[in-house]
Amino acid sequence: MKIIILILLFFAICSTSFAQKNNLQPGGFYFGKAPVGSHVFFGDRPLQTTDDNRFLIGFDRDADLQQQLTLINEDNQETILSLELKPRSYKIERIAGISKKMMNPSAEDLIRIGQEATQVSKARQFVTSLPGVSERFIWPLKGRISGVYGSQRIFNGEPRRPHYGIDIAAPRGTPVIAPAGGIVRLAHSGMFFSGKTLVIDHGLGLSSSFLHLNKLLVTEGQQVQQGEKIALVGASGRVTGPHLDWRINWLEQRLDPALWVPLHQ
Ligand SMILES: [Zn+2]
Repeated sequence: MKIIILILLFFAICSTSFAQKNNLQPGGFYFGKAPVGSHVFFGDRPLQTTDDNRFLIGFDRDADLQQQLTLINEDNQETILSLELKPRSYKIERIAGISKKMMNPSAEDLIRIGQEATQVSKARQFVTSLPGVSERFIWPLKGRISGVYGSQRIFNGEPRRPHYGIDIAAPRGTPVIAPAGGIVRLAHSGMFFSGKTLVIDHGLGLSSSFLHLNKLLVTEGQQVQQGEKIALVGASGRVTGPHLDWRINWLEQRLDPALWVPLHQ
């Protein structure tokens, strides 16, 4: 027999902390622990768990503020867990001096852009039990934050897609380190918008992407440890100067990297 219990606060079941609550917002995530023997579903999607039953879900920039998880225990009893995200607003960023080629890509470039987007999304589709996701993330680079997650971007006066990464300015050639361990799923030598690009899979569908690099120091399939040098800062792709654009995804959902590391550097 199925018993459906509506629990308004997920915290009643899963142990939590202030840090967890703070992450319940668009661009945030919930890193929970399910009771032993139970299965967790996010919509129809069964969630992968680690050996100690941890699971992860992430919320996109414009995620619905009401989210729901379903837990099915060993006795096939179903529990619906509602998560309430706190609303969030985003900055407007104006950037001038973008070249015509980048503002209005040719038909040929548009085909290339589409193919590259497919390659990146494939690199973010791995759902593994890699332990990197459970590590305490560190900054991949220290420097001035020159762009934040979610901001609405206006290029040469035209509104464009929001920014999904965190931009950290640093001189060309500064080393970039892995914020957590994982496996390199993409090491691309030059994409139209993002230039030299890396994607690292940290486990449970969580991945980091590193854009605009000058040099890649790792190859696809390579396992990396937290703190290992993976690349050098560059200015490849659509940029106005050397910086690292660091992104975090949970599968196709784009998350705010700043929520994974302490705000002070
Ligand atoms: Zn950026």
